[in-house]
Amino acid sequence: MASVLSLRPRQLALRFEEALWEPSGLEEALTREAGRPLELTLTENRSVLLSFRRKAGRIELRLHRMFLHAPLFVITALGRGLRRRSRKADGEVRRFMNDNLFRVRKGERKMPPLVTRGQAHDLTEVFSRLNARFFSGRLRVPITWGRGSGRARRGGLTFGSYDPVLALIRIHPVLDRREVPVYFLESVVHHEMLHHHLGGVSDRAGRTVYHSRAFRQAEVLYPWHREALHWEKENLPQLLRASQALGRERRAARAVARNSRTGARRRSR
Ligand SMILES: [Zn+2]
Repeated sequence: MASVLSLRPRQLALRFEEALWEPSGLEEALTREAGRPLELTLTENRSVLLSFRRKAGRIELRLHRMFLHAPLFVITALGRGLRRRSRKADGEVRRFMNDNLFRVRKGERKMPPLVTRGQAHDLTEVFSRLNARFFSGRLRVPITWGRGSGRARRGGLTFGSYDPVLALIRIHPVLDRREVPVYFLESVVHHEMLHHHLGGVSDRAGRTVYHSRAFRQAEVLYPWHREALHWEKENLPQLLRASQALGRERRAARAVARNSRTGARRRSR
């Protein structure tokens, strides 16, 4: 009998702490909780986080390495499930897996090539100007034009983002056009610089808040903040259209690259 539970990673890693278990200690604890001989294999499998089968009275259990971070009550719940031969993961176990999906990563994240020089705007110039004016020139954070992939959301576009794992600012390429005033681009870059500078703060419920009061207070120090908001409101439809056009161009370019690759393979035969 095998039980398999697949979950897809969906969130970004922000917390990295020490593991709670050594592999051998985890195996011992699980053997105790399951009440029968058990062989534990730890995996880095990205789609199957938990699976087991019984073989001659033994349990062969495969767990993602995230379980090295599981508190005892999760291990107890997991043992309970193994005793019951339950096909479904216990609620506690399921919750733990969901909360720890950030540990399921596609290998190491690498810094992408940084592209700062655009066709209309140079991000290095924008960044340096803001750095000198608002951060005493002290911020050191890489910035790049993003690829503009899949960031559209309902009623708007994500013009900039800050990646806390890479400590990298990405700016949507739709802003690299003459019609986009410098103050609008600056307000977006300034916002992302503040994310790097201020980080997140915990609220009373222990959730991390990124747009805190302090953040909002610092944000309005940018003198054209209101004008930028106003410009965004007026120009959002055009920007959305432009970003869709960018997306189409990107897909077409990819298709051309794909075809030329298969073409090359065909010719080499
Ligand atoms: Zn933000």
